[in-house]
Amino acid sequence: MAGLLVHICCAPDAFYFLKRLKEDFPEKEMVGFFYDPNIHPYEEYRLRLVETKRICRDLGIPLIEGEYDPESWMDSVKGLEDEPERGERCSVCFDVRLERSAQLARELGCQEMTTTLLMSPKKRFDQLRESGEKTAGRHGIQFIAVNYRKGGGTQEMFRLSKDKEVYMQDYCGCIFALSQQKGEDMLWDMTSFGYRAPGSREETLFIKEVRERAEELGLETREVEFPFLGWRVLEGGILAGDRPVPSIVKTYSRSIKGKVRGFLQRAGKNRLILSKQFVTVQLVEELGDQPLDEFSGLIPPTFIVSKDYEELLLKEKVTATLQTEFIPLTSRVLIIGKSGAQKVIAIPADTLQDKRGWDLGSVEHLLKEREDSIRKGSTALCLAGAVSVLQSGLRVLEEVTGSEIDFLGYPS
Ligand code: SF4
Repeated sequence: MAGLLVHICCAPDAFYFLKRLKEDFPEKEMVGFFYDPNIHPYEEYRLRLVETKRICRDLGIPLIEGEYDPESWMDSVKGLEDEPERGERCSVCFDVRLERSAQLARELGCQEMTTTLLMSPKKRFDQLRESGEKTAGRHGIQFIAVNYRKGGGTQEMFRLSKDKEVYMQDYCGCIFALSQQKGEDMLWDMTSFGYRAPGSREETLFIKEVRERAEELGLETREVEFPFLGWRVLEGGILAGDRPVPSIVKTYSRSIKGKVRGFLQRAGKNRLILSKQFVTVQLVEELGDQPLDEFSGLIPPTFIVSKDYEELLLKEKVTATLQTEFIPLTSRVLIIGKSGAQKVIAIPADTLQDKRGWDLGSVEHLLKEREDSIRKGSTALCLAGAVSVLQSGLRVLEEVTGSEIDFLGYPS
């Protein structure tokens, strides 16, 4: 039976808070409860959960995951969408999360509960205390309202999180706060690309999941972040007559102004072009994306298309549209193993636009296969981000490890 249930919102808030709780209440048996139905999108929720698992394991605190039920959370805050952060919507959000925590505390036979939300510098302490006392009181539980932000606690929290290389989110969690904070740019935070685009949240999540598995095996890990010039497709495609033609946009293609219409001309064995705005079609045996290995500047708007469509494309008038954007992004590399390992193996953390890439199961398999040599220090297994863009993560790995990298590539 646990004595103290700690509702956990995220790893940065939890790390220092849990450490302090353990110091101040050494006699109490603790259990963590990750309950965040307010977080959007799901990948962000997963990211915060995986990081919470890492730090709870580190501190030896068992963790229970609550239900992820964003629809019912949305219903609870209906009518409060436009409230500012720290306003009435947040009161309801705290009530929802702490009410469920209090129910669980009672089910588990805990006499006390608290929440790591109390650590968050952006939240109102009095608002949280009121919610905690009200919800815990309803279930006959005592709410512990400790203020660990004081006396340099907030700075210590950031320092610890940085040392542990914990993912630091840049918004509270819900879609409404995000839209108030980022305006139209929030669309990118809410968009799932359907593949692990270089520098995307999905890519970060994959790296963190692998890290969590490696640490579970007791292996050494470290991460290094790096910036790179990202590129993404906002919208676009190619039509032959009124028929959409399946295509992949070549990395670093520039945008088309408005819409281009006309007949494609052959400009090489596997190349068709429209003279207007240099729209290019590159024909391939099988439709698939290719990593961009060399920088050749901005390229004409280029669609990769299967040869099966060659005849149709030459016969019909085509319409092409394309909006792309260049954007500074951040990615990371994960190194599993000791510094100075003689053999450094790397796999890409990103996937190509056609979704080719490593899945978690295959990486786990590889990790187990090499576990002994990693533990002994002769091998390091690395995940490199943004490899499909100019091999960015591989270049960083070479610099960081000072070794030649044995790159295992993208699965075919
Ligand atoms: S801003 Fe944060 S605390 Fe407030 S409602 Fe949104 S997720 Fe909840």
